[in-house]
Amino acid sequence: MKRIANIFKEDPKRCPKCKSDKRCKNGFNYGRQRFRCANCRYNYTVSYQGYSQELKVEVLDFYQLRQELIEEGKTPKRKGKEGGSITLKAIGGVYGVSDVTVLNWVRKEGIE
Ligand SMILES: [Zn+2]
Repeated sequence: MKRIANIFKEDPKRCPKCKSDKRCKNGFNYGRQRFRCANCRYNYTVSYQGYSQELKVEVLDFYQLRQELIEEGKTPKRKGKEGGSITLKAIGGVYGVSDVTVLNWVRKEGIE
């Protein structure tokens, strides 16, 4: 199984030009955080999705734990409903995000 820790090894906020992670916040641009690279002075933005990377990691980590429990047969897998007794809604509810958001993240990171 793909582990979350590996997915986020690469910092998406690195400078797209020189890959330096030395950056300064440089205001916002159309709702996106703007950065200026401290190395090559290149200005760039990263998309602002409303949730922090840390939160996403925690949610997806919880999701993976659930998948492991299902595989080990420690939580019943309900017939016709993938995911067993711990629903995506329940996972999202713990962190204050919707089940749709959880599913989107899961699909986007290819964890399923
Ligand atoms: Zn740079």
